[in-house]
Amino acid sequence: MWGWLKEKIRRFKVWREQPRQVAPMTQEEHECLNCHEHYIGRFCPRCGQAATASRFSMKVAAENFANAYGMGERGMFRTMRDLLLRPGYMILDYLRGMRVSYFGPFKMFFLLFTLSTFVTHGLNIKGQPLYEDSQSVPVSQKLEETTTVDDDTITVTGLDGSESTLKMGKISDRIKSVLRNIFSKMEYFEKRFPSINMLLALMVESGFLYLFFRHCPNIPDLRYSEFFVSLVYIANMYTIYSIVFDFFCLSTLSKLSFLLALIPLKQLSGYSWRRTTLKSVAAFVIIFVLLLLLTVSVMYLFYFLMKKGL
Ligand SMILES: [Zn+2]
Repeated sequence: MWGWLKEKIRRFKVWREQPRQVAPMTQEEHECLNCHEHYIGRFCPRCGQAATASRFSMKVAAENFANAYGMGERGMFRTMRDLLLRPGYMILDYLRGMRVSYFGPFKMFFLLFTLSTFVTHGLNIKGQPLYEDSQSVPVSQKLEETTTVDDDTITVTGLDGSESTLKMGKISDRIKSVLRNIFSKMEYFEKRFPSINMLLALMVESGFLYLFFRHCPNIPDLRYSEFFVSLVYIANMYTIYSIVFDFFCLSTLSKLSFLLALIPLKQLSGYSWRRTTLKSVAAFVIIFVLLLLLTVSVMYLFYFLMKKGL
C-alpha cells in the first residue's frame, strides 16, 4: 500500500544528491540584434547580448525592473527551492563551480534580510511589529547616552535625559558606567547595521565550526573561505524558514529555525547525523566558553585600569 510513497522518497533522495543537470544547448542559429553577429548559443560571443533579447513586452519590462533590484535572475527561485529541499548538496554544487546556476549567497543574504525586517516590522498576519522590546527605544536616541569624565566626577546622561553624577572614589560605579557606555554603543551598532552585525557573527561562528569540519569526507581540503560562503547560504536557508514562521507570528519556531542548519551541515560534510550534531555542539560550547572568558577578562582589565586611576 505504501509502496508508491517509498518509491517517491527513494527518487527524491536520488534527485537531491545529484548535481544540478543543465539542459543541453539548442543548435538554433541566432542573429544578434545589437551587433548582427550570427551564432549558436544563448549569448552573442562578440558583444554578450542575450539571444532572448527581443521587442519589449510587459514580461520583459517587469524582468528589467526586477533586475534593478538584483532579483531578475531566474536562479533565485531555483536557489530558494534547492535551499529548502537539498541545501547541503546545492552548496556542494556551488563550491564545485556551478556559480551561474545559483543566486549569489551574499546578494541573497541582503535581500532576505530586508524581507525579514519587513515581516518583523509588521508585514505579517497580525499586521503588528513582532519583538516589541527591540523597538521601544528609537535608534536615533541611542547615541545620546553619554559619559563624561571630569577630574573627580563622572556624569552619565541617560536616554531619558536624566543625569547621574558619580564620585571618583566608587570604582565599581565607574566600571559600570564605562561598561554601560560600551554596551550602548554596541547596541547602537547592532540596531543600525543589523545585517553587517549578523555577517560578523557568522564569520566568528564559521571560524569555530571550521575547526571541526575542515577535513570532512565530502571536501577533505575545505578552505575557510568556502566554508564561510557555505554558512552564508545556510543562514539564508534558515532565514527563509524564520520569515515564514514570523509571517504567521510563530516567534518560538522562528527563533528555533537556526537548528535546521544541521541538515545542510550534514549533507555538505558527509558526516553522520551523530557526528554532525556533536561537532556543531562542540563548536558552540567553545564559542560560549570563550565569550564568557572574554567578558570576565575585559571586566578585570577595567577594574585594574580604574584602580590605577586611568
Ligand atoms: Zn552581438
